[in-house]
Amino acid sequence: MKIGVFGVGYVGLTTALGFASKGHRVFAVDKDETKIELLRQGKVPYFEPGAQDILERRREMLSFSTDPALVVREAEVIFICVGTPSLPDGSADLSQVEEVARFIAEEMQDYRLIVEKSTVPVHTAYWIKRTINLYRKKEVPFDVVSNPEFLKEGTALSDFLHPHRIVIGAETQRARDIMGQLYRDFKVPIIYTDVKTAEIIKHASNSFLATKISFINMVADLCEAVGADVEMVAEGMGLDPRIGKEFLKAGVGFGGSCFPKDIKAFYRIAEENQVDFSLLKEVERINLERPARFLKKIKKVIWNLKGKTIGILGLSFKPNTDDVREAPSLKIIKLLMEEGAQIKAYDPVAGENAKRVIPSLQLSPEPYSLARGANALALITEWEEFKNLDWKKIKDLMETPIIFDGRNFLEGRKLASLGFEYYPVGKPPLGKRNG
Ligand code: NAD
Repeated sequence: MKIGVFGVGYVGLTTALGFASKGHRVFAVDKDETKIELLRQGKVPYFEPGAQDILERRREMLSFSTDPALVVREAEVIFICVGTPSLPDGSADLSQVEEVARFIAEEMQDYRLIVEKSTVPVHTAYWIKRTINLYRKKEVPFDVVSNPEFLKEGTALSDFLHPHRIVIGAETQRARDIMGQLYRDFKVPIIYTDVKTAEIIKHASNSFLATKISFINMVADLCEAVGADVEMVAEGMGLDPRIGKEFLKAGVGFGGSCFPKDIKAFYRIAEENQVDFSLLKEVERINLERPARFLKKIKKVIWNLKGKTIGILGLSFKPNTDDVREAPSLKIIKLLMEEGAQIKAYDPVAGENAKRVIPSLQLSPEPYSLARGANALALITEWEEFKNLDWKKIKDLMETPIIFDGRNFLEGRKLASLGFEYYPVGKPPLGKRNG
């Protein structure tokens, strides 16, 4: 098939590469000229494992352009993958989606299937349809379907190519048939629904996952208060299939471009429909408190932060991505800086993106220079490489060997035996020297 993609961000480029790898011809457009130029030179504009490889192998199946007319002219199925950020009141800003709908309306000459892949509130497909009806120049038939994306940055391509389910919300048989054809060789359950239900599935999924994280973080607070172990609690809960073990990891809270904005947007759309979903407000409040709570823990151990050097291990909002949108690391760093601490940070790929947000941030080129002279290290992102560091060497480089493990990722016992004081989340500390 000929497929069009609006927006080559994390979702759009994955969609483009994913369908190209399935043998479809893909026309992708973005208004960001720098991204398009890089892609034309054969370079992926951000860090995502596997993306560069598919781009190189499938070059002949992919066109990148800044001209939306080209996409609408060439592609029969057009995916909308633009951003849907939060407005100040928490609702989703759908202006990028409207802009794309207008482009499509103005250029459409024949039947087009328009696919909503961006995460949008219920009723957005209705607004896309209305926009196209208002602005189209010719009486051309079209359908709008909802096909939400569930990929995770860091494993985006394998999530796209091997998802747990595919959700297709469509109103006509023609639209259902085309989508069914497109996903024919994806050997996973396909759920066909009406459009509104599909839109809600995505918001409800992300809101539920965020709820699980905030829930376990509150359990972690209680465990810390009474000296219990949240990891064992999570294991004991998670083996119950009704609960499941995923997303029961206590830590410094969730970030990224999805959960924080999606719970807000879901809450707002419920409110607009006179449904009081304040549970989600609470999920958000618990999450927003995490960085301050982490700071409090650091202060309890380090005492005065003024003039102390803290090394931050990991800046991206999760491992295997360079995305720092809403990353807990940035909030924690700002709080530490306000207390007068000297901050150094190391991340395998996200350093430059973090520096764009906090220009005064001092980056270390590798973890050992980060450790040199530090009063404490705080692990914020669980990059696999942090497990395999030479921790003995790190201990010798540090001024005072103290580790705050914001993800319960490191082997506390081993670190304590090397002489570290080790402070996990929701579990008793190890190796603590008495006053
Ligand atoms: P992104 O910010 O990385 O990419 C959006 C792209 O759209 C940008 O490159 C931007 O320049 C482009 N764009 C904006 N207006 C345009 C226009 N009129 N024409 C062409 N291009 C335009 O965003 P993302 O992370 O890829 O997310 C996109 C959507 O997918 C959001 O709704 C998000 O919630 C959803 N989503 C994201 C993820 C994720 O992990 N990032 C996962 C699932 C769903």
